[in-house]
Amino acid sequence: MSSDYYEILGVGRNAGDDEIKAAFRKLARQYHPDVNKEPDAEEKFKEINEAYGVLSDRDKRARYDRFGKEGLGNMGGFHDYTMDFSDLFEEIFGGFGFSMGGRGSRRSPRRGRDLQMQVTLTFEEAVFGVEKEVEFQREETCSRCNGSGAEPGTSPVKCPTCNGQGEVRQVRQTFLGQMVQTATCPTCNGRGETISSPCKTCRGSGLERKTVKKKVQIPAGVDRGTQIRLAGEGGPGVNGGPTGSLFLVLDVRPHKFFKRRENDIILNLDINVAQAVLGAEIEVPTLEGDEKLKIPSGTQPGKVFTMKGRGVPYLRRNDRGNQLVIVNVAIPTKLNKEQRELFEKLAESLGTTVKPQEKGFLDWLNEAFGGG
Ligand SMILES: [Zn+2]
Ligand SMILES: [Zn+2]
Repeated sequence: MSSDYYEILGVGRNAGDDEIKAAFRKLARQYHPDVNKEPDAEEKFKEINEAYGVLSDRDKRARYDRFGKEGLGNMGGFHDYTMDFSDLFEEIFGGFGFSMGGRGSRRSPRRGRDLQMQVTLTFEEAVFGVEKEVEFQREETCSRCNGSGAEPGTSPVKCPTCNGQGEVRQVRQTFLGQMVQTATCPTCNGRGETISSPCKTCRGSGLERKTVKKKVQIPAGVDRGTQIRLAGEGGPGVNGGPTGSLFLVLDVRPHKFFKRRENDIILNLDINVAQAVLGAEIEVPTLEGDEKLKIPSGTQPGKVFTMKGRGVPYLRRNDRGNQLVIVNVAIPTKLNKEQRELFEKLAESLGTTVKPQEKGFLDWLNEAFGGG
């Protein structure tokens, strides 16, 4: 086969749009891989598509006429492949839902819709767990018509178009001869029933929107982004399918001074110069109240103390993270007379020599958190 687009479609260089389209359709029918089982049919079909993709586009055709295929660059014909293909499908198979979803898919059981809502917790609620009442809207089976969609006292009748089958068979004349196809019934949309007097509450849909309140147990140790699935709390199933789920997506408000790093709780704490130098026993806040922490003498800024088991519980595990206390030595900015005199004495005693640091604050942090 030639590589010239005009020759591929068998048209002259002055062919009009209609002529090109007609030539394309004729060839596409002939070489469509679904109907032509010759080994090279698929290749030819692609070429035909490519040629048509270019010649049916005024801009691409002009470039092709002047510069050949090189002039098309990235504009080549294949971009239109999908579009032409579906177009062609309509042409060949008549465009009424050909094999989309398979036979009778509208009547087969389908799972109900999944719902999602965000629930915001306090820092403490996420750590210790909490019972929350959530309120949300969902569709439920209509209570007036029990989901039938028909006004009480009436009942749906068998669809006359499809005789209750939900699908219709059609015999079509195609270039291949007679083809029998099934399609979803257009009258009843595949339900097999029609409703003459629709239910006043749901207008025939069989569904009713309801506000639901639900108590939910949030386990200890959840975090921002944790999802909790409540099976069976979503939308109703269709044709006997299972009910969908409700997913709670958790958000956690930040704490005033505690921060969280996975299951550890981090607390930045200021101690004074004397405490750092001489050591001290201090009271440290934890989520369960103040606890004593021993600061050894000579504690450097950035030193991290671990309070074991004072962190966040692990989900599904009988264990907790730690509380990490990062100590900052606060340098006083305001001194009274007595303190000033003491520091002056200290200054005199320490002298004026300085020494370059081998380890800085960042090294401490990296060591504490095992970083690089
Ligand atoms: Zn109803
Ligand atoms: Zn029908």
